[in-house]
Amino acid sequence: QVVTRFAPSPTGALHIGGARTALFNWLYARGRGGKFLLRIEDTDKARSTDENTQAILDGLTWLGLDWDGEPTSQAAAANRHADVAHRMLADGHAYKCFATQDEIEAFRENARANKVSTLYRSPWRDVVDADHPDLPFVVRIKAIGLEHDGQFFADFIYDEVQGKVVYHPHLLDDIVLLRSDGSPTYMLAVVVDDHDMGVTHVIRGDDHLGNTSRQKMIYDAMSWKMPIWAHIPLIFGPDGKKLSKRHGATGASEYQALGYPAAGMRNYLTRLGWSHGDDEFFSDAQALDWFDFGGIGKSPARFDTKKLENLCGQHIAVTDDAALLHELAAFLAVTDANALTATQSDAMLQAMPSLKERAKTFPELIDKAHFILTSRPIAIDEKPAKSLDDVHKGILAELTPQLQTVSWTRDELEGSVAALAQAHDTKLGKLAGPLRAALAGRAVSPSVFDMMLVLGRDETISRIKDATC
Ligand code: GLU
Repeated sequence: QVVTRFAPSPTGALHIGGARTALFNWLYARGRGGKFLLRIEDTDKARSTDENTQAILDGLTWLGLDWDGEPTSQAAAANRHADVAHRMLADGHAYKCFATQDEIEAFRENARANKVSTLYRSPWRDVVDADHPDLPFVVRIKAIGLEHDGQFFADFIYDEVQGKVVYHPHLLDDIVLLRSDGSPTYMLAVVVDDHDMGVTHVIRGDDHLGNTSRQKMIYDAMSWKMPIWAHIPLIFGPDGKKLSKRHGATGASEYQALGYPAAGMRNYLTRLGWSHGDDEFFSDAQALDWFDFGGIGKSPARFDTKKLENLCGQHIAVTDDAALLHELAAFLAVTDANALTATQSDAMLQAMPSLKERAKTFPELIDKAHFILTSRPIAIDEKPAKSLDDVHKGILAELTPQLQTVSWTRDELEGSVAALAQAHDTKLGKLAGPLRAALAGRAVSPSVFDMMLVLGRDETISRIKDATC
């Protein structure tokens, strides 16, 4: 069974890059009936906060990336990590290093001065059963030494995205596994946790690629099977530089607050560095069916807000009206203090087919719903107010008696307005502007007949009266 995991460090909120990594892990596991686990890498006590952890969980929840079981804490497994380090000590794969910081620094300075490798090989590496009960020590792994057959040799890691990644094991330093206070390092913790959690596939940013050869030393020392690796290229901004604040919003929650629908965001993030032929717009079911390592590109993807908006618009268009209303209400609840009233909800649902036309974000949709969310006497913007000159006010005033009796259907309403236009020797289109001004107070809104149908007879007549007398 496939087991993937997302392992964020709660030193900040959920970044777009992290969200994409989580999504790829989720797609890979869920598309194969596997498990998607969550591990909070909270070992950096100074920078990890509960608020950040919560923000990460909220971000994943918003994106619909559900995880299996409870999220685990890396810090909580510190004893287990230390046990593994001691196993490696006992087996001779690691050693206690009593070198002081000053000694290590002196070694490095000396190496730099003599222009030789600064790769640290502690003098304690070959001391058998070194023990100094009163001295602090760190536990280091015994990396492959130059002495190994006197040969330099290359090894490789097979990566599903990067292919064969060749490196020289003798150029890896004796990484620290346990610090002098007994706490495990990230390098040790991540390997032990992935092993203990039964992770079969590690999908993560390629900024971690360099760590993989070091982590392999630990897998080898413990005779543990390595997971399958897939290191994905980072996300760049439109200018080809690593995505950062300079490029605009970088946090998942910022996109939520900007009103991008989660389905569109999911679709866009899936396409960010992964492709399936020419397919741009697809459903979750399709993404789950199609997602594989073969489609992941080797070069960084560029974040493109236009493309995101385009996909979001397409998702809004195909979302079921009631489901969309539900999402909108949730969006309004977090961004706006005013929740929708029952009447507004009903009207929104009725108007949804016209509201969602061409809307790419929730705020755009809400903007179109202004005629529902506003109340009498409605404020009329400057530009539409100009179309309500005296002549047109006069014409529209004649409409209200007719609207009292006409049956409230699109055909009948269109017929009434068309007849009115004809009687005044003008076109129906010429009356749409002033009518729109009277009903919505805006230059942009759904069609006047859509609005009349949603507003109903009394409200429509009242708004026209307000605007014409
Ligand atoms: N905690 C690491 C990070 O946030 C992830 C480590 C991993 O995926 O192996 O970058």
